[in-house]
Amino acid sequence: MGKIQILSESIVGKIAAGEVVERPASVVKELIENSIDAGASSISVYIKKSGIAEIKVIDDGEGIGREDVLLAFQRHATSKIKDEKDLVRISSLGFRGEALYSIAQVSKIKITTQHRAENIGTEAYFVAGKLKWQKPAITEGTTIEVSDLFFNTPVRRKFLRSPYTEKANIIEVVQNYCLAFPEISFSLFIDEEEILNLPESETNYERICQIFGLETAETLKIKAISEGDYKVEIFWGEGLKGRYKVFVNRRYVREQSIVNSIYKAFQLQQPQFIIFITLPPQDVDFNVHPAKTMVRFANPQKIHNLIFKVAEQKHISTSSMVAEESSH
Ligand code: ADP
Ligand code: MG
Repeated sequence: MGKIQILSESIVGKIAAGEVVERPASVVKELIENSIDAGASSISVYIKKSGIAEIKVIDDGEGIGREDVLLAFQRHATSKIKDEKDLVRISSLGFRGEALYSIAQVSKIKITTQHRAENIGTEAYFVAGKLKWQKPAITEGTTIEVSDLFFNTPVRRKFLRSPYTEKANIIEVVQNYCLAFPEISFSLFIDEEEILNLPESETNYERICQIFGLETAETLKIKAISEGDYKVEIFWGEGLKGRYKVFVNRRYVREQSIVNSIYKAFQLQQPQFIIFITLPPQDVDFNVHPAKTMVRFANPQKIHNLIFKVAEQKHISTSSMVAEESSH
């Protein structure tokens, strides 16, 4: 008698979900990424009870066509890449086709969406990945409501941190997308309290002002450099004390080697910076881990050299940035 068995679909689903949906903030992250990929210019996030009771994300993006709505919840179903060639030059945030599937496996999820080119949309409701009902609807963009997160994975629920920590994680995630996408307006409400409400802005500096306040922003030092398709812009100073953020091609990443270079190049004693690095998509690989916060560079040395070069540039004054913006 053999001992090996193929796992049932529902166990496979929960295991897959375990990688993508670690905590409520991971759901928020995936839903916001989908809204951005759909070309949204405005994204609103509503949270109840640190995300366990409800996570709702509303966007004004292109929406999902009627034929595609159910497909979007299948595993490895994506509109963003078609073949292996696409894998080496990804320009969207998503591409694995796993998020909606995984989130649906461990929650109750309602989608209301209408594709821009169609005159009728769809509303559908899933429980633990199973379609419960579906009906026509009229709407604009896409609204996704995730409720009762981890209701069928009690272990995962038990290992969540305090509601305070989970909320802080959600705020951090939303803030990161606000920083990476200043041209999108974002709002975040937690238990009906307005946490963020940012109109669209034209520059990284303007968005930093919106998030951290003008007083803090004015104390920051700014340097930038561009070399061919590579660009680096860095903001640093006391006002950001205790915090650092690295964005590569508008993704928030954890990349210790970049952090170390910045410490050295800018002679920082403690974390206090935000850096935006832009490079051609084929020179960077985000497909290292499902959460895509890890990154591999085709030419890491080039990034490190640029960080040292940007440190040698002249300061850009914040007043010139504001003047430039208002002269537009
Ligand atoms: P991925 O983002 O990797 O493609 P997802 O599971 O997150 O995978 O989403 C599956 C598909 O559903 C996407 O490729 C996209 O076509 C569609 N989709 C999901 N969310 C939205 C949204 N907010 N607006 C428009 N389309 C969406
Ligand atoms: Mg996605």
